[in-house]
Amino acid sequence: MRSLQAEIEQHGRRIFELVDQHPESLFSKAGFYQRLMALSMRDEQLKLQLFRFVDVLPSLRTSREIVEHLQEYFAEARDSQRISELLGAGVRLASTVPWISGPILRWNVSEMARQFIAGRNPDDVMRTLRRRRTQKIGFTVDLLGEAVVSEPETDEYAARYLALLEGLARETKNWTDPLGKNSELFPVVNLSVKISALYSQINPADPADAIAHLAPKLRPLLRRARELGAFINFDMESYAHKNTTLELFKTVFTEEEFKDWPHAGIVTQAYLRDSETDLRDLIEWGRARGTRFAVRLVKGAYWDYETTKSRQNGWACPVYLQKPESDTNFETLTRLLLENESIVTAAFGSHNVRSIAHAQALADELGLDPSRFEFQLLYGMAGPIKRALVDMGYRVREYCPVGELLPGMSYLVRRLLENTSNEGFLRAKFSENAAAEELLRDPCEILRERRNGVPTQSKATINMTTTTPKTQPGASYENAPLTNFALPENQEKMRTALREQRKQFGRKVPLTINGEKIWTDKMFSSVNPSQPDQIVGYASEAGIPEAERAVAAARAAFEKWRLTPLQERARLLERVAEILERRRFELSALEVFEVGKPWSQADGDIAEAIDFCTFYARQMRLMGRPRLTQNVPGEESYHHYWPRGVALVIAPWNFPMAILCGMVSAALVTGNTVIMKPSEQSVIIGATLMEIYEEAGVPPGVLNFLNGKGSVIGAHMVEHKDVDLIAFTGSREVGLWIWESAGKTREGQRELKRVICEMGGKNAMIVDSDADLDEAIVDSIYSAFGFQGQKCSALSRLIVLEENYDRVMQRLLGAAASVRVGNPEEPDVMVGPVIDEAAYRRILEYIEIGKSEATLAFQAKEVPPHGYFIPPTIFTDVKPTMRIAREEIFGPVLSVMKVRDLDEAIKVANGTDYALTGGFFSRSPANIERVKAQLEAGNVYINRPCTGAIVARHPFGGFKMSGGGTKAGGEDYLLNFLVPRVVTENVTRHGLAPEKTPEYRDEFLWQKR
Ligand SMILES: Cc1cc2nc3c(=O)[nH]c(=O)nc-3n(C[C@H](O)[C@H](O)[C@H](O)COP(=O)(O)OP(=O)(O)OC[C@H]3O[C@@H](n4cnc5c(N)ncnc54)[C@H](O)[C@@H]3O)c2cc1C
Repeated sequence: MRSLQAEIEQHGRRIFELVDQHPESLFSKAGFYQRLMALSMRDEQLKLQLFRFVDVLPSLRTSREIVEHLQEYFAEARDSQRISELLGAGVRLASTVPWISGPILRWNVSEMARQFIAGRNPDDVMRTLRRRRTQKIGFTVDLLGEAVVSEPETDEYAARYLALLEGLARETKNWTDPLGKNSELFPVVNLSVKISALYSQINPADPADAIAHLAPKLRPLLRRARELGAFINFDMESYAHKNTTLELFKTVFTEEEFKDWPHAGIVTQAYLRDSETDLRDLIEWGRARGTRFAVRLVKGAYWDYETTKSRQNGWACPVYLQKPESDTNFETLTRLLLENESIVTAAFGSHNVRSIAHAQALADELGLDPSRFEFQLLYGMAGPIKRALVDMGYRVREYCPVGELLPGMSYLVRRLLENTSNEGFLRAKFSENAAAEELLRDPCEILRERRNGVPTQSKATINMTTTTPKTQPGASYENAPLTNFALPENQEKMRTALREQRKQFGRKVPLTINGEKIWTDKMFSSVNPSQPDQIVGYASEAGIPEAERAVAAARAAFEKWRLTPLQERARLLERVAEILERRRFELSALEVFEVGKPWSQADGDIAEAIDFCTFYARQMRLMGRPRLTQNVPGEESYHHYWPRGVALVIAPWNFPMAILCGMVSAALVTGNTVIMKPSEQSVIIGATLMEIYEEAGVPPGVLNFLNGKGSVIGAHMVEHKDVDLIAFTGSREVGLWIWESAGKTREGQRELKRVICEMGGKNAMIVDSDADLDEAIVDSIYSAFGFQGQKCSALSRLIVLEENYDRVMQRLLGAAASVRVGNPEEPDVMVGPVIDEAAYRRILEYIEIGKSEATLAFQAKEVPPHGYFIPPTIFTDVKPTMRIAREEIFGPVLSVMKVRDLDEAIKVANGTDYALTGGFFSRSPANIERVKAQLEAGNVYINRPCTGAIVARHPFGGFKMSGGGTKAGGEDYLLNFLVPRVVTENVTRHGLAPEKTPEYRDEFLWQKR
């Protein structure tokens, strides 16, 4: 008997023979698309620009806009030359007659899109399907569309699916199976459905909620499909949606109504490391269900997205990093499917002849008739392979996307990326003419060779290990990963932590002064803003005597702490980081209860606290040692820092762990002693941080925990002669008072007080006329309403160019109406309660002011009846002079302003007292450059939300009335806590100088032990 490899080669060679009779025209040298492919494969940088241009093109309205974008994208002479190659006459005409070259370009790109999109609408697609029928190729139809951002959009989508299904069934009534065998397994009408199109608020942390919303949308479609004898397939999208899709599939098809329906299928992506476990689980489920179902096996279309996303978040990458690993796994799963053919019908979705030939050879080996499985290929790709498979007697189905050009762009860009991928099969075969022998190699063997160090041609592994150039020390710093709530084990840990936290409600916490626990007569209560009758805990309240004791303790501890070697101080922070990590879920759960943070936001706060500890520890190690200023013989001059003395840290409740921990850590690691005063509203979290510092070994007096009223003890300590430094984050009113008060010198005061002051914002986001609205809408809603708009970085003014205004508003209002408001104990909630009754009343007052000044365009109808819930609210017709456009509201209230052009947009954006964060959505390189240069904000974000700064990556802080210009989580932040000093020694004796001068000397700074 011949080996499986020999059989694969035989099948593969046969396919190639047939393919070579009709070579792939997409990879020929003629035509716009072919030239685009060729250019992209030659030059990675140009490829990026080309694809970005293709992405923006459909949203450009006039020829002038098209030409301007073209010139902006390909401004460099070298690129411009290449574009001339691409377009022939197009670009040369560009600068002079845009109305000619604009349409030429649009036509070319439309034509290119048409190669991958089977029709603009159901009627249009029928022409394609009829043609394919004559070629014995079946179909599955997929509806392209914009990313849905609201529930009305999902309803529209569901209706389109239903109409498409009806249309297809009507038009194909008399069609028969091309193979005429086992046709009961393969209905003619086959619809591919994307679940993300049917519910706009899918939260990977809460599959149950998604299923509760998706199932009712799907049932009518499934019911009708069953009546019509059609087949429904669930496509698979990004990893975040995978578990929800699988769960939904199993849930719906176990229901009585669909339990015995065999015409349902789902996709398995072989590039996922957990795909084998998932497939085994599905097969087991199918056997228990007792009815046949189908699986389309693919490698996966989101490889670039998954690798980028996981790297950004510091998550374990869910996909294989080497192409032959995906190929090998595809073969493993092929075997699993074919060996379980009695319950699962396999569809192999691949253009790779090796993968296809492997399935064929294995089916032969297992004695399976070719009519019992099928090959599926994408419309517009690998035409000769489809033909070859039909000629060989295999069942072939084409995946046909239907839709308009604009919504289809992301699909088109994915196909272009796939076709130009360094490791893609189609490129290797049709563009680089790789030999059949090479193309049919066993991927396992390629992997073995790689492991043994035999060089291969792969470039993808190199891509993965290439990181950004290390221009800054921060570039090599690694942040604590955010918790991936798409993983069921993390959902479970969070639910358990919430249950455990509940049991601790009503706990009591003392003050800590000089290591002593102090209980006072007065107790503060801290309540759950979702249910104010629930008391999260009680905290002893300090008065002036305790404040005096705390200052004295910190002063007394300073002398020893300042001489403690920086390594020891840095290690203290690292131990704190370890404890925070260990108690991560517990602390997140506490935040859900004490300040009403949604799950992921609470987790983000703890992650940021960890980052502050590790980043400042690292920065101190980098900059804390005395460093030689210049190397000259005979003299040693060392620049170094001393701590300032006693630091008072006054923190807010909105990032109750991160900001408090960040300011405290910075002060401690630089050698200052600290009195930390958390916000009254988040005092239990503050007390917990004190506990953590104590567990980490902070010496008595070095860190003191004082809870009390800002107006009493806060004010007293700000004015205290023995307080040298005040680190404050909070309201403008208090911040300005501290700034002023610290400027006065009191009797007995040794130092000029240093103030580190972070205040509020009135943050603006501009939406350009060419913005990608799928992103702009989702990110604006998240920036404005995430954590109830209570981040100082939150969006409060959306500035929209008039060209786009109507479309933006239509989608924005729909999206706002779809946001979930409720108790953040539930993971799907985006908007929880505001912090307390005072905030609740103040925000409602602003809403009344808004109603009198502007137009109330939207207000959420349903909010929980108890608790401090404010309905998300949007005002339109807002003018820059109105109060709601100038004053910080700190709640889920968004003002929308319509402007003529970008000049006016920037003027309006810059026209407030604040300069904290700002954002811009645009795909015009020139406009992006302009906004980067001109927007008055400490943190400017382009094409992404304006919240969610990450330590070291986005050092955070503003200027004007937003703050003193310091950057928390930035390289130079620690300098604010230090005084610089230089020590110079003449080391010559009678002209004799040492040969070498050390670069660092630290012996004179630390205590000898
Ligand atoms: C009919 C049909 C339906 C499809 N439906 C879906 C779907 O629902 N969901 C979905 O995600 N995809 C789907 N796809 C796309 C599919 O996942 C592949 O992206 C595409 O077909 C390319 O794979 P290939 O086997 O044809 O080509 P090949 O060139 O052999 O493989 C390319 C694939 O290998 C993987 N890869 C590339 N580089 C690496 C690397 N460095 N390390 C590890 N793996 C790598 C990627 O998945 C890439 O797409 C579908 C494809 C078809 C044909």
